[in-house]
Amino acid sequence: MTQPSPTITDPRGADLVPAHATLERLGSGSTWAEGPVWLPDEQALIFSDIPGNRILRWDATTGPELPVHRDQVEFTNGRTLDHQGRVIACSHGRRAIERTELDGTTHVLVDRFGDKRFNSPNDVVVASDGAIWFTDPPYGITVAVEGHEGFREYGDNFVFRFDPETNDLRVVASDVEEPNGLAFSPDEKLLYVADTSAAGTPGNGEHRLIRVYDVLTGIKGGRGPDAVPSGPVVKNGRVFVEVDRGLADGFRVDTTGNVWTSNGDAVTVFAPDGTELLEVVVGEVVANVCFGGPDGSDLFVAASSSAYRLRTNVVGAGLWWL
Ligand code: MG
Repeated sequence: MTQPSPTITDPRGADLVPAHATLERLGSGSTWAEGPVWLPDEQALIFSDIPGNRILRWDATTGPELPVHRDQVEFTNGRTLDHQGRVIACSHGRRAIERTELDGTTHVLVDRFGDKRFNSPNDVVVASDGAIWFTDPPYGITVAVEGHEGFREYGDNFVFRFDPETNDLRVVASDVEEPNGLAFSPDEKLLYVADTSAAGTPGNGEHRLIRVYDVLTGIKGGRGPDAVPSGPVVKNGRVFVEVDRGLADGFRVDTTGNVWTSNGDAVTVFAPDGTELLEVVVGEVVANVCFGGPDGSDLFVAASSSAYRLRTNVVGAGLWWL
């Protein structure tokens, strides 16, 4: 099989990947691959196989059939690392955000908004202050193979921020119809959130886009000595890009601010001004991507049956372990 190679769609895209870069299939074994994260201490990639209810693993010694990292995991979806190297993951089955400690034990960090359960947390990022930001669309309670049947107890789909130090939970965005992937710009002054409502219940919205918000912090909520800086909050939400091949399920940002996103059966890269720079047609539907590898410049792609790797000339933003 010919290995897919990037198509440069704007001259600036030529700098993003080495000449003659190709997309390498690392291994297969999933039905619907999602939630990739690079584990720097192990030089390994793990990712969710949501319908398989398990997590697969790739390292330089594995493939082409990828081994099971963990199974019976209650339908994990998106994941990331916190600053201590612990895996923070979304669980459709537990309707929760959970953390795997360095000793391998996993426990729920938060699963309720007030007295209501979350829908099915989908994707997650950790900010530089350690707060966990995540999206909560309904796919894990509405799509039969992605979790357990259920209903939306708080009646909507929000983006939340959870501080694991204080247990403070707040809604940061309520205007995304079905929020999915999310990521910060390198300076954390922007938050990108995908709206994949075109994947949802017929009759809902038909969005296939990424929204962007200003992240505002340190706003004084009044006058006098008791007025403390508030935030962070997100404001001024607007459309960043509409994607053309499918859904922008999940994405990551590089240190120069480009957004590397799934787009149907492709990975598409957008500049901070929304210009499309580069596209790689993978050949099967892509859910999500992450940066990793020894120098943070390998782009790992979770796409339906398989995990792929693309060498790049950029470095992923927020890779604190580099
Ligand atoms: Mg997702």
